Parts: sequence; structure tokens; C-alpha cells
Amino acid sequence: MREAQAQLLITGIGRLVTMDPARTVLTGAAVAMNAGRIVDVGPEAEVVAAHRSAELLDAQGGWVTPGFIDAHQHLTGDRLARASIPDDLAPGAAIFTWAVPLHGAHRPEDDELSATLAALEAVSNGVTCVIEAGTVAYPDSVVAGVTAVGMRASIGRWGWDVEQGPFAAPAAEVVARACDLLDRYPPDGDGLVQGWVTLVGHDLMSDALVVEATELARSRGAHITYHLSPTDSDPSSYVRRTGRRPVVHLDALGVLGSHLLLAHALHLDDAELELLLAHDVAVASCPWAYLRLGQGMSRVGRHLEFAGRGGRLALGCDSENAGDQIDVLRAAALFAGVSKDSAIDPTVPGAHLALELATIRGAQAIGRAHDLGSIEVGKRADLVVFDANRPEWRPPGDDVALQLVWGTDGRSVRHVVVAGEVVVRNGASTRVDERQLGARASAAGADLRRRAGVAVTSAWPVRDA
Ligand SMILES: [Zn+2]
Repeated sequence: MREAQAQLLITGIGRLVTMDPARTVLTGAAVAMNAGRIVDVGPEAEVVAAHRSAELLDAQGGWVTPGFIDAHQHLTGDRLARASIPDDLAPGAAIFTWAVPLHGAHRPEDDELSATLAALEAVSNGVTCVIEAGTVAYPDSVVAGVTAVGMRASIGRWGWDVEQGPFAAPAAEVVARACDLLDRYPPDGDGLVQGWVTLVGHDLMSDALVVEATELARSRGAHITYHLSPTDSDPSSYVRRTGRRPVVHLDALGVLGSHLLLAHALHLDDAELELLLAHDVAVASCPWAYLRLGQGMSRVGRHLEFAGRGGRLALGCDSENAGDQIDVLRAAALFAGVSKDSAIDPTVPGAHLALELATIRGAQAIGRAHDLGSIEVGKRADLVVFDANRPEWRPPGDDVALQLVWGTDGRSVRHVVVAGEVVVRNGASTRVDERQLGARASAAGADLRRRAGVAVTSAWPVRDA
């Protein structure tokens, strides 16, 4: 006997890329969803017969994958000034002369608009779950934005206890704010949004803050995320302050564990790599940010080694003036390419590992492999339907990972389902008016930059004709 009647079926599937433990690829399959979860996967005729009253979404031969996981994504701050922060600034300047003033000038409505725009780009590229990176001033506004679009996200609150800077507060207050957020957005909540503890990280957190925030996360069964060591600046700073490299110092504080997702951890020495593996710490790798900002992924990065030794690695797209596009497939291709090139070895893992990082291994890294990352009965119904009629799919390849990672990116995404609801149909949001949003974004971006005191930049002259 099959499950009770489903609400939605995907039929006409060319290949169903399940990402199950055997990495099974099915042909002739249909997927049935009910109450936000996958309830049936099987031969199309049988599934259709068993769920006659369900709405049908015809894939028209397109391939279907799990929704992609973006484990490090700023949903505010850069979005309203995208492609504006120069890409040839000295290290740190993009953060402290641009990103921080822009964040500081945000009003709640900027957070909501930014998050709406970011979520819209994400789902349009098949990204169905985003881990917010820890730079949100007005979490309720961000939640309003992502839920309007229908994307799954974790949310935390801006957390640092530096002396100056927007949204700074003493450690106890930062932790109290995080506690309040977890009360309102439970870490194990059933809806689209879950609460996380988020800190800015780097060397912008006192020992007291990271210890207390970690205690809060542990006591509430929540995850915690913060930035660490995208460059050698954090290692230098920690060695100066503590005599130890960052991960060694965090280990001495007792804050490492499987509840922790570090953004970057790009500059690691041997001892730090061993500590992350021993404590089952997860890492979000954001390859476009490292390349765009010249941070040394190809020279010193050890993410491939970390993943190869069983480390919980995910991909992230970072922010709009670092990773730029919220497209996990694009990040997957870059990860695979840089891995091979930096090893000067074409035999190291490529597209298959990268597709795993984008899906099931990404879900493991964010602690949600039990309900995200693969297409299996019982999991949340987050799926992507690709358009196999586009030029880059003629003809589709024999190997799904080679086609999806090297041969495709977010532009091929046609329909997206989140929690059993079609949120993107034929490339457009079913929930928000994209044209109206575009006009609001232009006006809000200009106003934000004026209030933040950052100039409109163009390296080349722009003038009326
Ligand atoms: Zn970041």
C-alpha cells in the first residue's frame, strides 16, 4: 500500500538524481509530495495511479535533483550595493570601508528587501536552503523576506563585542539577543526558518563571547556559525593575542564540536586541520570569494583534503561583493576546478564530490542530513527541476554529475519546489512580483549608499550620451 494521497507529483522526469546513499539515478520515476515531505518515489505509472487527485508538475524530460544547500550566505549588507565595491582593494578594506558602513546604515526595510532579493536569486538558481552568515541586524525583517519567497533558511543575529562598530554590545548582551532569537525561531522548528547562534567571528569576538555563545547553542540544541581564517589575518591576530593559532585557541576554550559550522577555515596548519576533524567541526567553503578577493585557496586551501578525510564540508556563496552570485552549482564547478588545478592532478575528486557537497554532504555539514539533501521518502520536499531543452543540455550527458557541475549552472533551473510548494515555475517566482522588487531595489540601493557615505563607483566613465 502506498501512502495517503499526495498534493503534488513531479512527472515526466528525464533522470531523478536522488543522492541517496548509493547515489542512485532513476529513469522513468515520479516523485509524490504531501505536507511538505516526499511520500513516494517510484515508477511513474504506479505513482500517478496511487495519487490521482494530486497536482502534476510536468518536468518535460528535465532532470530533477535535491534542492541545493548554501552554507554561508549574507542575506543583507551587500545586496543593495552589488557589483559596486571595487575588486582591487587592499585586504580588509572591502569589509571596513564598505561592508560595515553599509550594514550600519541598514534599516529594517533594507534588511527585508535585501533578504527578499537574495532569496529570490537563490531559489531561481535551485538553492533551497541557506545558512545566514551572521551579519543580520533585524532578523524579523530577514525572516519576512525569505518566507515571502518561500526559501528555507537559518537565521541568527549580528554578534560581536568589539568596542566600536554597528550593532556591537557586551558579550552578555549579544548572548541575550541570541537567546531571544532562539526563543522566537526554535532551532528544531518545523517551518522554513530555524534559529542559529551567529557571531561575526574572525578576531572580532572575545573569549567570553565565543564561550558563552557556544554554551547557549549547546544548551538549546542549536548550531553556531562564525567566520574564521579566510586569509592569514586571523592567524596573525590570534597568535599576537593568545600565542596560539585560531583553531588551537578555540580548542583550548572548549568551543569546538559538531554544533559548529566555520565559514572559510581556509588558512589552516596541520594541527588545526586535525582538530577540526577530531571535533567533527563543519566548514563552509566559498570558492568564489577566495578567488575574487585573492585569499589563497589555490595556494594554501585544504578543503579538499578535509572532505577527503571525512570532514563535514559544504559550499557557500558568501556575499554579493565576494562570491557575487547565489548559485551553488557555479561554486561547485569552481571548487572542483580549483581542487584539480591546485593539486596539478586531474585524478583528484571533481564533479561527483562537488555535487555531493552541494546536496547531501552540504546537508550533513549543516546538521540536516536527516531531512534535507537527497530525494528519499520521508525527507523534506525540496527539489529542483532542470530545463533539458536549453542549449547547454543538447544532448544531456551520460553522467549526471559531469552534466550538472561542469555543463550546467543555475540558468538551467526551471521549477523549484520547497516544502512541497512550487516556489519557482518556469524560472519565475510564484510568490513575489519580481519587476516591482527591481524598481524598489534600485531606489533603496541609492538611498542606502548615500546614508552609509559610500560613493557610487565605476572605474570607467559613465555619462549621458
Ligand atoms: Zn561571510
